[in-house]
Amino acid sequence: MTTLANRIHYLAESETLAMSRKSRELKAEGHDVINLSLGEPDFNTPDYIKVAAKEAIDLNFTFYPPVSGYEDLRKAICIKLKRDNNLGYEPNQIVVSTGAKQSIANVMLSLVNPGDEVLVPAPYWVSYREIVKVAEGKSVFIPATIENNFKVTPEQLEAAITPKTKVLIYSSPCNPTGSVYSREELEKIAKVMVKYPGITIIADEIYEHINFIGKHESICQFDYIKDQVVLINGVSKGYAMTGWRIGFIAAPVDIARACDKLQGQFTSGASSIAQRAALTAFITDPGATPDMKTMQQAFRERRDLMLKLLADIPGMKVNHPDGAFYIFPDISSYFGKSDGKTTIANSNDLCMYLLNSVFVALVPGDAFGDPRCIRFSYATSMDKLTEAVRRIKEALARLR
Ligand code: PMP
Ligand code: GLU
Repeated sequence: MTTLANRIHYLAESETLAMSRKSRELKAEGHDVINLSLGEPDFNTPDYIKVAAKEAIDLNFTFYPPVSGYEDLRKAICIKLKRDNNLGYEPNQIVVSTGAKQSIANVMLSLVNPGDEVLVPAPYWVSYREIVKVAEGKSVFIPATIENNFKVTPEQLEAAITPKTKVLIYSSPCNPTGSVYSREELEKIAKVMVKYPGITIIADEIYEHINFIGKHESICQFDYIKDQVVLINGVSKGYAMTGWRIGFIAAPVDIARACDKLQGQFTSGASSIAQRAALTAFITDPGATPDMKTMQQAFRERRDLMLKLLADIPGMKVNHPDGAFYIFPDISSYFGKSDGKTTIANSNDLCMYLLNSVFVALVPGDAFGDPRCIRFSYATSMDKLTEAVRRIKEALARLR
């Protein structure tokens, strides 16, 4: 009989993907499910990017691409980083991967030895914790509270550092809270981290373009810390290209080389066609086409709608997201209540109750390191959002 490796037993299934699967199953059974579980834009990939992919096929970009990505794509990423973020990088510091998720896994596996500690401000994106497990590292969670809009302080970070600390990983704009660290907050974090040159910061900036408070701020802008940072980004969120699977790192050369080596044994270069599409995405100034602005505007309107609708639900403590397309309210006031059939002990129970009773799919906060909360992905139409919140309000009112 086959026995699976221990790492598969201790690895949790991605809860975002699991909730989305459950919601698809209920839909297939004929239920009218509103799926607010998966974090992906509901927009189609812009036409000018699709054209580039079609051309790539006709031009026979069908052979194995270089492991780190085509040279001109890596140059285009350097141009993007200069144009959008005022950051100087060379193509040998860029590694293109099959999505930002793989980029993060590459970096973690390249840096973390068994027993090394990884600082993870909580709430965090689901996959950080599991990728650290695969690398046999130890996640050290640093709790942020809703009162502080889910941001950790530099004092908290410094207090968590030990001689075993190897990595700090965070996302800003943040999945699942939508929190955005300001330039001043990032500078304070940089000033702490520069005292510990053995620690690498993984700055996940995949939601760069979905930011409601102005210009995106990267911790890499502080020259004294840049060599300690691996910047993660990609095309999934900002360009509505989740299925194309292109992410990248911008990193110190030794880390880029390590990721190239690892990726060369795991997956090789990312899809050649998707790379050509990504080249067009990055080389085009986001301000030069209406597509990104249209999406940004829609996400802002939906964020405002969610804030208004959720404020009307008794017992829900709602945070104020400044970016991404998630909202992460505290619903713990419902714990211990029942509709006569189901008793709600935690956010997982509440999620299952909402899914099974009113067919709205959300993700429990446990998956993101805060069991008092629940995550809504509001990357869907205003009508669906309005209907989903109406159903949730009705279902919650039945709990006593
Ligand atoms: N980081 C965060 C914070 C995310 O939410 C996601 C969403 N999938 C990723 C990384 C991975 O993105 P990709 O689709 O490029 O793998
Ligand atoms: N990042 C998205 C989310 O959090 C997509 C799902 C995933 O990759 O886990 O829902």
